[in-house]
Amino acid sequence: MAIMKTRAVLLKAPGQLELTERELTVGANEVLVKTEYASICGTDKNIFVGQVAEDHYTMAMHGKGNPLYSNREVPAMPFWIGHEGGGTVEAVGSKVHEYQPGDKVISFSWAGTYADYFVAPVNGLQKVPEGMDMRLACLGEPIGCAMYSVMTSGVNLGDTAVVMGSGFAGLIMVQGLKKRGAYKVIAIDKSDDKLMMAKEMGADVVYNVDKDNVINGVIEETNGKGADLVMEAAGTEQSVNTSSAVLKHNGKLVLYSYITQPIKLNIGRWHDDSFDIRTTCLVHHTENERQVWAPWALRPVAKGQVNVEPLITHTFGLNDIEKAFETVCNNPDAVKVMLKP
Ligand SMILES: [Zn+2]
Repeated sequence: MAIMKTRAVLLKAPGQLELTERELTVGANEVLVKTEYASICGTDKNIFVGQVAEDHYTMAMHGKGNPLYSNREVPAMPFWIGHEGGGTVEAVGSKVHEYQPGDKVISFSWAGTYADYFVAPVNGLQKVPEGMDMRLACLGEPIGCAMYSVMTSGVNLGDTAVVMGSGFAGLIMVQGLKKRGAYKVIAIDKSDDKLMMAKEMGADVVYNVDKDNVINGVIEETNGKGADLVMEAAGTEQSVNTSSAVLKHNGKLVLYSYITQPIKLNIGRWHDDSFDIRTTCLVHHTENERQVWAPWALRPVAKGQVNVEPLITHTFGLNDIEKAFETVCNNPDAVKVMLKP
């Protein structure tokens, strides 16, 4: 296919973004998509500030040549940033039979979605589920990951569950845990705004880590037993350690965050109290498996059983990409920042 040009955001070096022209070609197994919306997640923020690059440095030290490491793409700079988003298929490569122009799709790969158009490998996309609002569908990747995590967390009717971090994923988890029968959900964050949202979305108790004693609070709320389940969705050393400290004997520790820096953990209880530890994320499946799991994880949102709309706190045009990242990095009340090309 002929070369086409689009506006796209290039991360030239940590902290240095440029909205510039990008040339796109569509390979035999690739799909050209006209972006409707894209969005920024914690991983994009980590790449923006240069933390993921360092993670790969660490990986090179400990995992170079180690076949057990997942082959996650290294965001080498300059980098066409953006993996969340969706839109309408504009053209398909000669070997693509899964999609045709006009189809609505969700991005699940590092396609450079902060652009008017992006090209994705055919297996880096998902079809938008029937009946799903397109603005929400463009958030399909982060919604799918958080929903999948709840749906595979092992939460049971009657459980007291703690959600560490009331960001986009955490606020979806709060709702999902209640829907799956949790007796009590305790939401944790640093932002009172986010904790207020957590309450509106069904959290029974909320704690601000900067003001409250979270460990004592959870112990009190569970009559000295500890939480049945903790979902870690804040991605900090403090958050993982608090997760380990508030869980009951034999409790479920569900690790969701993608932590890109080495952190110091106190894991004595992992041994003494025999936790059931699971790492849950939709995108860790192979691409073929994801084709099966993503529609399942998105179905409750398409049906309106989980409310995502209030979690979109900011929307910017591509011209304001710097403002968008400044909001993600510095506004503790921002939940999901979207981009509208
Ligand atoms: Zn993401």
